[in-house]
Amino acid sequence: MHDKNGPVRTCISCGIKKNKYELIRLVLNEKGYVVKDHRMNMPGRGAYICNTRDCHVRLLKNKKLNRRFRKTSEVRLAPELEYEIKKLIS
Ligand SMILES: [Zn+2]
Repeated sequence: MHDKNGPVRTCISCGIKKNKYELIRLVLNEKGYVVKDHRMNMPGRGAYICNTRDCHVRLLKNKKLNRRFRKTSEVRLAPELEYEIKKLIS
């Protein structure tokens, strides 16, 4: 499964392993919100998810982001990201 074109990352939503450039990188910004890192170059610990509706929707519910970012309090999605996901559901 290892692709010579780039490192492999695991989707925190469904657990599938993919080349990191096929996944979307999420980071915790300085305000404590999870945002998409479109340029894949924001500092800090990242998490990755598939570019699919299902994996985005699952993000709203699961606590894996908390574990991933080592937070005991609820990790919040940035309002624009939450809005984007809710649009996918409706
Ligand atoms: Zn996934």
